[in-house]
Amino acid sequence: MPKINQFPGAYIAENQDRFVDEMKQLLAIPSVSTLPDHAADCIACATFVANLLVSAGFQNVSELPTKGMPVVYGDLITDPKLPTVLIYGHYDVQPADPLDLWETPPFRPTIRDGHIYARGASDDKGQILAHIKAVEAFVKSGEPLPVNVKIIIEGEEEISSPSFSDFLAQNRERLQADVCLVSDTPMLSADQPSLCTSLRGIVYFEIKLIGASTDLHSGQNGGPAPNPIQGLAQLINQLKNEQNHVTIPGFYDDVLPIPPQTRSSIEALPVNAQTFATQIGAQGLTGESGFHVLEQLWYRPTLDCNGIWGGFTGIGSKTVIPSEASAKISMRLVRNQDPQKIATAFRSYIQANVPPAFKLEIKEFHSGAPVGVDADHPAVKAGLAAVTKAFHKQAILQGEGGSIPIIKLLESELNIPTILMGFNLPNDAIHAPNERFSLERFLNGIAASVYFMQFLSQSELAE
Ligand SMILES: [Zn+2]
Repeated sequence: MPKINQFPGAYIAENQDRFVDEMKQLLAIPSVSTLPDHAADCIACATFVANLLVSAGFQNVSELPTKGMPVVYGDLITDPKLPTVLIYGHYDVQPADPLDLWETPPFRPTIRDGHIYARGASDDKGQILAHIKAVEAFVKSGEPLPVNVKIIIEGEEEISSPSFSDFLAQNRERLQADVCLVSDTPMLSADQPSLCTSLRGIVYFEIKLIGASTDLHSGQNGGPAPNPIQGLAQLINQLKNEQNHVTIPGFYDDVLPIPPQTRSSIEALPVNAQTFATQIGAQGLTGESGFHVLEQLWYRPTLDCNGIWGGFTGIGSKTVIPSEASAKISMRLVRNQDPQKIATAFRSYIQANVPPAFKLEIKEFHSGAPVGVDADHPAVKAGLAAVTKAFHKQAILQGEGGSIPIIKLLESELNIPTILMGFNLPNDAIHAPNERFSLERFLNGIAASVYFMQFLSQSELAE
């Protein structure tokens, strides 16, 4: 906890019981966006959140309509010359099933061992409430809000935000800001506060090799007949070398080296190849040689075969040479890589390397661009200092190996960087039974949000 005789510690300490009561009321609303039966609950939840914004002191609070669920908006503009923070969160939640695995009902928020247990506690109602309470702390303590704040809380994140890109495009002017702040991911661990500044992107393909025009008897044809399973295996094998580097020409051309301080903070963590192998239950790893396991996960692109099939896979034996074999292959991309460029490079490499006896079919699925902010961006520095101060330990920068599509949308539609300041932990069971959020981390999260606004107002963004 921050010092209770100071701001914001005193305000948080005096009001924490009420904050927790309000969180309980928010969590009791079953705003499950994927279930049509809960549409009215989602709308009721939007209204409840709007009321929270009003009582926190936000202005221009409204439930902005979309094709789907409304987006709750509020702002507090103190001085147009100050930096503006756009806070994003969502009020919808995942379904609670399987219900019998919950120790207490998912929509009857319960406190035990310092945590509040309920669907949505960490993802994302508890985390977004921390930011609302941070703004309230300024307003109600009479402390001048040192930045301008805008907040948007959507109701369709758990169903892939189908209305959100139109919403952003229609509200570009209103949402103008210097930086977007999102708390919808976890911190690295209980004793290692962190700030996430990058997410990997993806490109995804299916390839099929065709040999003979039909399946063949392997006795009558085996030897000369082309076997597409073996052809495919050769092709996949060529995609990485013995050092596990991807061999597609140009694959690494646009990858930026990580700053030395990011590398040393990674190397200081109690995570290495051995601990990671143990964590995933593998007897060894196959990452790119020469890179720390966390650098491989967060800051290096990679390629994986996600599925492979062909021929006979039933019980017993069947003497067949299949006519075709297929595989699904995806690549995770890092900041500064262009999915289209990588897709083109992959396609040409596969076409150039198909063994001559086979016909190739290639299909491209979805792709998503990577996102990221420079480590020396003023908002990143402010975020790191804020998390460090609120959680009483030097925070580190981290990346995230997967992608979160709304973050890319925020960046591309509004043209502002996003930082991910998660307050919960990886074992808080989001999307699972017994989801929880630590009350101490909630209160520290309020302080972190306050400090972020203070540090941001002292950064180069304020000039
Ligand atoms: Zn979420």
